[in-house]
Amino acid sequence: MALKLKIKDRFNKELPADPILENSRRQVKEACFSYVTPKTPGNPSLIHTSPEMLDNLGLSEDDSQTTDFLNVVTGAEVLPNTKPYAMCYAGHQFGNWAGQLGDGRAINLTEIEHNNKRWALQLKGAGETPYSRTADGLAVLRSSIREYLCSEAMYHLGVPTTRVLSLSLSGDQVLRDVMYNGNPDYEKGAIVSRVAESFLRFGSYEIFPSRGDVKTLKTLVDYTIKNHYSHLGDPSKDVYVAFFKDVAERSMEMVIHWQRVGFVHGVMNTDNMSILGLTIDYGPYGWLEGYDHGWTPNTTDNTNKRYRYGTQPQLVLWNLYQLANAIYPLVDEAEPLEAILDAYRSEVDFAYLRMMRSKLGLKIEDEKDVHLVEELETILQLSETDMTIFFRNLANLKKTETNEWFSVVGKAFYEPSEIKDALKGKWENWFKNYSERLLVETLDEEDRKAEMNTINPKYVLRNYIAQLAIDDADKGNYELIDELFNLLKKPYDEQPEYEKWFAKRPEWARNKVGCSMLSCSS
Ligand code: AMP
Ligand code: MG
Repeated sequence: MALKLKIKDRFNKELPADPILENSRRQVKEACFSYVTPKTPGNPSLIHTSPEMLDNLGLSEDDSQTTDFLNVVTGAEVLPNTKPYAMCYAGHQFGNWAGQLGDGRAINLTEIEHNNKRWALQLKGAGETPYSRTADGLAVLRSSIREYLCSEAMYHLGVPTTRVLSLSLSGDQVLRDVMYNGNPDYEKGAIVSRVAESFLRFGSYEIFPSRGDVKTLKTLVDYTIKNHYSHLGDPSKDVYVAFFKDVAERSMEMVIHWQRVGFVHGVMNTDNMSILGLTIDYGPYGWLEGYDHGWTPNTTDNTNKRYRYGTQPQLVLWNLYQLANAIYPLVDEAEPLEAILDAYRSEVDFAYLRMMRSKLGLKIEDEKDVHLVEELETILQLSETDMTIFFRNLANLKKTETNEWFSVVGKAFYEPSEIKDALKGKWENWFKNYSERLLVETLDEEDRKAEMNTINPKYVLRNYIAQLAIDDADKGNYELIDELFNLLKKPYDEQPEYEKWFAKRPEWARNKVGCSMLSCSS
C-alpha cells in the first residue's frame, strides 16, 4: 500500500460494535455501528478528485493517480489496519418517526489525522450493509455528481458542509426508477468518497432512547463531547446542556447560510442533520432560481412541501426538538433544554434579518429594515426573479441613481415586460425606500459593492447546470464536471471567462426532471 495516511480510528475503537459480523439486514441493538466490507466494484475508474481534500488528508496529486488510491476510494481494497463499518442511526422522516435507518449505502473506511485535524473517510454507494433495508446499497452517477460538486461548492461559499475526496464509476449497472412512476432503467453506478470531521447525525442519538437504552446514549454523547466538543469540558449534566446549545447554534448558523445563498436541502429529516452543524446528505437539493419561499426541489415531498426554502429555519427547530427529546434522559430536566429551543425561536428571526441586511449592503441596524426586507420578499415573489442575479447585481446600484434600478437588476427578471408594466409601481416604491435607506449608510459606493460581493455569490451550482454536467458525464465526457468544480471554487469572484454560467434557468429546464424536479431516487 503506497498511500501514507495517518490512521487514527476512534469511532470504531471507542464505541460499542454490533457483535454480529454477517452482512444481513437486521435491527442492531446497543451498538453504534456494524463492521462491513465494501462491495468489490466490477470495473472501477476515477472521474475526479478534489485537490484541496487530497491536501487536507496529506495526500498528493501523484497519490491520487495510483491504483491503491483508486482501489481504496471505490471499495476494491481495504486500507491496512482498518476495519470499515456502517453507522447505526434512526430518524424522523418527513415529520414521522421512522425507527432504525442507519448507513444503508455509506461505509466508513477509517479516520485520518493530518495537520491536527481529524477526518472520517466514507464511501457512498459501496454496497449493502445491515442497514440497507429494502434497497441495494448503491448510488448512481447523476446523484453522485450532484453530491460531489455541491459539497465542494458549498464549502467555497462559506457554508459548513461535509466534503468530498473523489468521484468514481463502479463499473456496475444500477437499476433505478427515477420518478417513482414505474419506469425503472439501468444507470451507471458511482461511488463518492466523502470526508467530514464526523458523520454523526441527530438520528444517531435518537435511536437509543427510543429503545430505552440510556447507557449507549450516554456512551455516544460522552464520546461526541470528548472528541468533537472538547472545549465544553468533561461530561456532566451542565455540559450536556451546553452541548445541546452549541449544536443549536451551529445548526442555526448553517441554515441561515442556506437562506443566504438560496440553497434548499430538500430532505431535512433528523437522520440528515449533522451533529456538527454541517450540511450533510446531498439528495434532492436545489438552488432557488425564481425567488420563492414555497419552493422545494423534492418531488417526493410535493404533497406536503415540508422542506420548502422558506420553512428551513423552522424545520431546523423542529429537528432540534427531536434531539432535545433524545438527550433528555441524560439531563433529566426539561427546562434548560426548552430554554435553548426558545432562544433559537426568538434568535433565528434576528439572525435572518442580519443576514438579509448584509445581502442588501446595510451595516447600520434600523428597526424599519424588517419592513424593507419583507416588502422585498413579497415583490421578489410576485415577479419571477432569479435570486442570485438579483442580489449580485444589486451591488451595482448607485445611491443617488435609484431610478436606474431596472438597468441594474433587470437581467434577473424572467418576465421583464411584467416588471415594466404591472409591477413597476411596486418595484419603484421599493427602490425609493432602499435608496433612502442607503443614504443613511456611511460606506462609500465601491466599498459597499466590494462587501456585498463577498456575501452574494456570483456563481452557484444552478440546477440546470448540474444537469448539463450529468448529461455529458452519462456520455463519458467529464470536462464540464471539471469546469464547474473549478468555477465554484471562487463563487464570489467575477471570473469573466465563465460569465455564461451567470445566467437564468433556460426555458427547457423549467420542468425538466433533474433540473427543478428531483425525487429521492439516487
Ligand atoms: P436519505 O433520505 O437518502 O438520507 O436516506 C434515508 C435512508 O435510506 C438512510 O438510512 C440511507 O442509508 C438509506 N438509503 C438510501 N438509499 C439507499 C440505497 N440505495 N441502498 C440502501 N440504503 C439506502
Ligand atoms: Mg441520509
